[in-house]
Amino acid sequence: MTGRPTPHPSPVSRPFWEACARHELVLQRCAACGTTVFYPRSVCPGCLSDRLDWVPVSGDATLYSYTVARRATHRRLADRVPYVIAIVELDEGPRMTSTVVGSDPDDLAVGLRLRVDFEDAGDLAFPVFRVVAS
Ligand code: ZN
Repeated sequence: MTGRPTPHPSPVSRPFWEACARHELVLQRCAACGTTVFYPRSVCPGCLSDRLDWVPVSGDATLYSYTVARRATHRRLADRVPYVIAIVELDEGPRMTSTVVGSDPDDLAVGLRLRVDFEDAGDLAFPVFRVVAS
């Protein structure tokens, strides 16, 4: 079995994954209180409004926390070790679990500036992050 595990978009998360397939990062924004929301939800976690619009975001982020998986956390990721499991803080506020690619994991540090990129996987694409050269 090859290829990474893939999500099964729900009616709520489908716009997120469709945007990723176009290599665009979108998040929900509450029309009632302005909260930017991630992960995709049916109601705003700030005010419980269901008026959530999908809006494009910058893709700029900061490495909030990370660990390096030196043993695969899933058998279909065995060919990727070592890989980074990262919590990135998007400039718009929400934190997202993702990975950092294109850098030696030993060179990473909390606080590094990142920018989103996308890895195609069939009909889907995963948001991943790359270190922004300083
Ligand atoms: Zn709200």
